[in-house]
Amino acid sequence: MTKKAIYLDYAAATPMEPLVLEAMEQYFVNNFYNPSASYLAAKAVKKDINHARAEVAQQLGTRPAEIIFTAGATEANNQAISGVMRNFPEGEVLVGAIEHDSVRGPANLFNCREIPVTSQGLVEPSAVKKLISDRTVLVSVGLINNEIGTLQPMKEIASLILLVRDDRREKGNKLPIYLHSDAAQAGCYLPLNVSKLGVDMMSINGGKIYGPKQSGALFIKSGVKLLPLIVGGGQEWGVRAGTENVANIIGLSKALVLAQTRRTQESKRVAELRSIFIDALLARFPYLQINGSPKHHGPHIASVTLPGLDNERLMMELDELGVQCAVGSACSASNREPSHVLTAIGLNSDLARFTLRFSFGLHTTNDEVLSAARKLCQVASPNR
Ligand code: PLP
Repeated sequence: MTKKAIYLDYAAATPMEPLVLEAMEQYFVNNFYNPSASYLAAKAVKKDINHARAEVAQQLGTRPAEIIFTAGATEANNQAISGVMRNFPEGEVLVGAIEHDSVRGPANLFNCREIPVTSQGLVEPSAVKKLISDRTVLVSVGLINNEIGTLQPMKEIASLILLVRDDRREKGNKLPIYLHSDAAQAGCYLPLNVSKLGVDMMSINGGKIYGPKQSGALFIKSGVKLLPLIVGGGQEWGVRAGTENVANIIGLSKALVLAQTRRTQESKRVAELRSIFIDALLARFPYLQINGSPKHHGPHIASVTLPGLDNERLMMELDELGVQCAVGSACSASNREPSHVLTAIGLNSDLARFTLRFSFGLHTTNDEVLSAARKLCQVASPNR
């Protein structure tokens, strides 16, 4: 039997939890009914969806009517951004320069400007303030960046948006301004209370919290004026038509409850693993560069630059030694353009090519991170 690989790419995908799979199973064969059908068995499935919606709403500190289920965070981000911008075509959207492509993609279909970040990847409220104009209708900033792990000052950005609203009210500018956050990487590690964060919309991703891929949710605060992306049978309050993916909805809600329940202890444990890993690397590579903010970061992501060492080669050799990690994000791994995240924080294209992402999770152990660090030292050795 081949030895189990050391998986250090939890920011790309998480293995589904047995309890999540168990909760989903009945909806494939036994409870396969269309939730919109009128007989009792179908109504029971509808009730289960509503229960799942209530659970997600509770985790986000909001009401079920403000939650729609989506097929992952890409769709949630598209719905939030295109939904608002299509409603306000003369408006403008501001997005952080290090946002995921599923935010940048839809934003770039409209009037869009990027908010520059600091060398640590922080979106400073002052930078947002400088860019907001009378026609800004949406600001989108992700909670935890997927490549370098930087955690954004969402509450401060939200306070700024409130001031802009007050100012517009005084000036009689009726254009709304909304704050959206892509929280795809945050579900296991941060409290997601939308009022405390101050967001008007927030995207959740089941595939990053030990739930099914292509499961997700979008919080849309009541009063936010957006158009649906997918029209048809009127499901999901008319915002996301199509027969519900019942199993995925149930899986997402179960995964979110489990992730949020163990959030505090798991954040601490994973942060320790990250430190152990980085310390072990620093002992061998004093010139190692750790990207992102040393103070404000998600606990599970370590982006490291090893000057002079090609990341593709390191990644492939690590893979052969049984360590799975990423060059940048999984989504951009196939294109050889330097990562927009790394260039936005000031790395030149060479340094971006010398950068690997390691991300930790539920099944990562002390021994694994130490072994991975040893193996990285081995493949990075000049005598190989
Ligand atoms: N947003 C962030 C921050 C992500 O990390 C990802 C996936 O890597 C996504 C959005 C898109 O998620 P999905 O491809 O599951 O829709």
